[in-house]
Amino acid sequence: MTAQECNWAGNVVFGAPRVHRPASIAALQELVRDSRKVKVVGARHSFTNIADCAETLISLEALDLPVEIDRAAGRATVPAGITYGALAPQLHAAGLALHNMASLPHITVAGAISTATHGSGDKLGNLATAVVALEVVTADGDVVEFSRERDATAFEGAVVGLGGVGALVRVTLAVEPAYTVQQEVYLDVPLAEVTANFDAVMSGAYSVSLFPTWQSDCVNQLWRKHRVAAGTTRPVAPTYLGGQAATIQLRPSGGASDLCTPQLGQPGPWHERIPHFRADAHLPGDDELQTEYFVPRAYAADAMRAVAALGPKLAGVIKVSEIRSMAADRLWMSMAYGEDTVGIHFSWHGKREAVAQLLPLIEASLLPYRPRPHWGKLFALSPATVRSYYPRLGDFRELLQSYDPAGKFRNAFLDAIVFG
Ligand SMILES: Cc1cc2nc3c(=O)[nH]c(=O)nc-3n(C[C@H](O)[C@H](O)[C@H](O)COP(=O)(O)OP(=O)(O)OC[C@H]3O[C@@H](n4cnc5c(N)ncnc54)[C@H](O)[C@@H]3O)c2cc1C
Repeated sequence: MTAQECNWAGNVVFGAPRVHRPASIAALQELVRDSRKVKVVGARHSFTNIADCAETLISLEALDLPVEIDRAAGRATVPAGITYGALAPQLHAAGLALHNMASLPHITVAGAISTATHGSGDKLGNLATAVVALEVVTADGDVVEFSRERDATAFEGAVVGLGGVGALVRVTLAVEPAYTVQQEVYLDVPLAEVTANFDAVMSGAYSVSLFPTWQSDCVNQLWRKHRVAAGTTRPVAPTYLGGQAATIQLRPSGGASDLCTPQLGQPGPWHERIPHFRADAHLPGDDELQTEYFVPRAYAADAMRAVAALGPKLAGVIKVSEIRSMAADRLWMSMAYGEDTVGIHFSWHGKREAVAQLLPLIEASLLPYRPRPHWGKLFALSPATVRSYYPRLGDFRELLQSYDPAGKFRNAFLDAIVFG
């Protein structure tokens, strides 16, 4: 096995003997039509076996499609396999922007929307909510379009498709005029202040992230990303809620870093501030695992207190947590389906056994708050429990069966979680 056939963290070794790289949509159609079991991988940044396949594993890296902008409609049709790091500068050069991005731009558009990948922002939906249409090669090799305008029901099921609907080739995204963002970091903000003022804290900027390690009674870092008018700078207050403004560039897990996008209140283009990590940062995956649970916004402060109580048990395994907010959406398999939601994320050291032992403890603490796990990050909740958190799961199963009756795009992950 080569490193190519593992995921980013190396904890999932793909079962397929090789990765196919079709160079045209016609070649992709033929490959899908002729395969018994097939799966497309994106940037391999998921920690679960959601992208795994024992037979035909496909990467769209060699599929050279253009980014097409429809300025009047406020849309861009992009190759599904493009990374946000490659896409965002092209949009920016055209004077356009996305509403939000994830913590790093290294992931693909198709991979991100397939797992409902998100950034933060009280009024911002996850990245899949920017999708207005999908072009998909389905199991029989045909190209099918899912469009919010033409068939909202199937569309809402297909966008967060967990890789089960087919091979996404083009994605049409809503875009808006390019904007300027500045970010500032505050250190050691008392956790009690944050939980007591949770709504005000999370709505205090365009995008807010809290980074506790749960090893003290403080949020170690609080990142605020403000939209500012071009050519202006928003003064950075020296203190915020008992925390001190940072005076050097930091990485979320602590320590100085030049891997991160500019902080210290320095304004810049949206795509060079919203992701925490720079597009050119090399981030090795050999000592990292991740987990994330999503709870309804109303439970966020209680859920944070529950995790804080586990703090001593997390010592030595946790690098840092991240708390982010996202607006409710209508996408059936989105972790924010139906309600404003808060994600409680854990970046772990790559200690697989220790992480596996911690997950049930965290899940037991969060169980009163109906924790939906991130599809692309490690969890131990039973498939039946996960299914019970998704009111449209039955409809999603039917949607997959209607486009893929033989289960060509199904893998062990989908068999367990969706089909039970
Ligand atoms: C360092 C790091 C930081 C992260 N930060 C965030 C974050 O800020 N927010 C967040 O929510 N998540 C985050 N994640 C998780 C990550 O965003 C998700 O796991 C995402 O799905 C990864 O996208 P990918 O391109 O690597 O897709 P992969 O992991 O390769 O694939 C994910 C799924 O998409 C499917 N897929 C990919 N391409 C296609 C296609 N063309 N057609 C059909 N199906 C396809 C795959 O089959 C699979 O089911 C992070 C992960 C890492 C490693």
